Amino acid sequence: MSYERVDVPSAGEQITSDDSELNVPDDPVVPIIHGDGIGTDVAPAAQRVLGAAAEATGREIHWMRIYAGESARERYDENLPDDTLDALREFKVGIKGPLTTPVGAGYRSLNVALRKRLDLYTNMRPTYHIKGVPSPVKDPDAMDMVNFRENTEDVYAGIEWEAGTDEAERVREFVEEEMGFTESIHEGPVGIGIKPISEFGTKRLVRQAIDYALENGRESVTLVHKGNIMKFTEGTFRDWGYEVAREEYGENVITEDTLWDERDGEAPDADVVVNDRIADNMLQQILTRTGEYDVLAMPNLNGDYLSDAAGAQIGGLGIAPGANIGDGRLLAEPVHGSAPKYAGQDKVNPTAMILSGRIMLDQLGWNDAADLIYDGVEDAISSKKVTYDIHRQIDGGEKLATSEFADVVVDSIEDNA
Ligand code: NAP
Repeated sequence: MSYERVDVPSAGEQITSDDSELNVPDDPVVPIIHGDGIGTDVAPAAQRVLGAAAEATGREIHWMRIYAGESARERYDENLPDDTLDALREFKVGIKGPLTTPVGAGYRSLNVALRKRLDLYTNMRPTYHIKGVPSPVKDPDAMDMVNFRENTEDVYAGIEWEAGTDEAERVREFVEEEMGFTESIHEGPVGIGIKPISEFGTKRLVRQAIDYALENGRESVTLVHKGNIMKFTEGTFRDWGYEVAREEYGENVITEDTLWDERDGEAPDADVVVNDRIADNMLQQILTRTGEYDVLAMPNLNGDYLSDAAGAQIGGLGIAPGANIGDGRLLAEPVHGSAPKYAGQDKVNPTAMILSGRIMLDQLGWNDAADLIYDGVEDAISSKKVTYDIHRQIDGGEKLATSEFADVVVDSIEDNA
């Protein structure tokens, strides 16, 4: 593959994939998008930490800078150049910082475009508490959940028409006259959107969540939906989710009904129990019965709300990591956005980006390096060497810049290796 304006590292090998399984050399080329706003602060910090963990375990990452958002506009005069998509397709596994999306007018979200064009159909967000991170809840350690949020349909399909346009009026006419919904839409200008949830999209997401639960010794997968109101989208999401569990996993996976009807609530050790909860109730349950939830599988919008709410419980946006996963392809990214007001100040917390890199290393099978990263971050935070966001919430800590926090984590990785 040749690239217009990307420098491919002269050393390092390519990660390949067969049937969704990654083949990972010890010296992979890994594409990285620094991103907009604070991406320019957190991405280099994360790069150093990930590089140190690789080196400490006898490996080497060969970084390949690729571009999206502002950096791409400067270099290519467009937001998402083919070079970037081609590199992520060719090298399989990459990491990105946040990208700015203007509200309302302007271009659609580049994050959404990346996820859709690369068919990264799951957004995975592990949500766990790190010792020393202040939290607004009494028992943040009770949370140890992994959220699987569908990444390509539901509101991410982006099918909507602006109020006052011919298109919106034509859709109104179709809905009222051809489909017979005569009392559903108020007179006057109206914006209209369509929310598709497919069998294909739902089942591949739920499979990923169940596979993850089985591989990682998790006890339950909860389907989170609003099927009481949206019966043929969210309700069917639940039904297809149960169908996957019943039809594709045999004895290893049981539903909550079977658990109570046939086993009196006792699940044998090897089993994953699949249950479902209505989304509004679930937002309450993660606060009131936190420890009962393990892996969640959700359509796009529920997943968006729920993973930010869960993230708040374990310390907020500076901490929360994520990754977008497709078949044989992964793009790690922090949950937070580009926080433009802090851009370039070497101030914000790089933990979310560092821990997103940790997910990436775990997926490469580099669990030893991933553990070193977790321990390094925990050592830094529990010894109260923290960035401003955590510093303002604790007594007697040492306030560090983004780059200084990364130095502390790197030192700890080198000491623990
Ligand atoms: P945001 O960038 O996540 O920032 C909101 C607030 O969260 C910040 O003001 C800051 O709070 C805190 N925060 C975020 N990252 C932090 C970090 N690393 N360390 C410490 N604190 C951090 O959300 P936003 O302001 O709503 O969005 C800004 C832009 O980012 C928008 O264009 C949005 O579309 C985009 N965005 C992109 C992604 C993505 O690329 N995946 C995701 C979300 C949003 P305090 O000011 O209270 O300290």
